Amino acid sequence: MILPGLIDPHVHLREPGATHKEDWDSGTAAALAGGFTALLAMPNTQPPITDAATLSIALEAARQKARCDYAQYLGAGADNLAALSQLAPGAAGLKMYLDQTYGPLRLDDMTLWMEHFARWPRHLPVVAHAEGRTLAAVILVAALHDRPVHIAHVSTREEILLIRRAKERGVKVTCEVTPHHLFLSDEDIPSLGVGRSEVRPRLATPTDRAALWENLEVIDCFATDHAPHTLQEKDSPNPPPGFPGLETALPLLLTAVKEGRLTLEDVVLRMYTNPQRIFALPPQPETWVEVDEDAVWEISAAELHTRSAWTPFEGWKARGRVRRVVLRGREVFRDGQVLAPTGYGRNLRST
Ligand SMILES: [Zn+2]
Repeated sequence: MILPGLIDPHVHLREPGATHKEDWDSGTAAALAGGFTALLAMPNTQPPITDAATLSIALEAARQKARCDYAQYLGAGADNLAALSQLAPGAAGLKMYLDQTYGPLRLDDMTLWMEHFARWPRHLPVVAHAEGRTLAAVILVAALHDRPVHIAHVSTREEILLIRRAKERGVKVTCEVTPHHLFLSDEDIPSLGVGRSEVRPRLATPTDRAALWENLEVIDCFATDHAPHTLQEKDSPNPPPGFPGLETALPLLLTAVKEGRLTLEDVVLRMYTNPQRIFALPPQPETWVEVDEDAVWEISAAELHTRSAWTPFEGWKARGRVRRVVLRGREVFRDGQVLAPTGYGRNLRST
């Protein structure tokens, strides 16, 4: 089975600042192993990516180390309003953290939201981390500025129903859902362990999870929110939130296709067609993913390329496995081996 090169619009690569968790090399290797040929990297690194100097640090690391194609988000802050619009064409988009998250980039003051919406170029993406009532607020502020907003990792029934209603009224809102919110719920916390199950947004109730499946047509993208931390960190007294997800997303979704829960077209629409359109990404010529759709296998952290070296889906039976990936005419992954050299990846926003 041949799929297009998948696009993940929500990935945390931890470089600069925490390369023991992941870096541009290990994270992009994990992406290729998972069937992703392009990823958009989030800005809540250390330091966060909020200005020209930090953007160039991230892009230089990417230029040297990335094995798949990429772009880097800028983080909206209280003091970078003026600088951002100039940098916008070279970035994946603007990320606005409006709720509790990992890192310091949280914006509480709605007048700052309004200023960012007013200044960020209208044709370039804005992604908001906004849960519950904050989601309602950011949809309103975006609508007041008559511009699109993409909602990251929708996880609850009230959120997906609000987005459904907004779309029905013609509001320019799109959204993504993660595989872990589609396949896990708070009932899995005891077996996962409290520290390992820490994630933002939190694992929701089975009712919330069911609502995501029931409103599949409202979901524009499947995004991993790949958020690697080491097991030592996850099992510590202060476990940081986040799951790795690049290498388990497609197998889990293909398994759901086999189970009749959605179609292959549903998957391709949300992991290729829609992200390419919403994030205005250029096509990747001579790029595809070969999948053995009948391969039955067990997910095992020992086989993953992510430096975080664990997965909340350990031991899950998957049906469908990435065999080979070709990116811009070059074989970059085959049967468990990443073949793309570091530095092969291209910045999708460079002109
Ligand atoms: Zn995230």
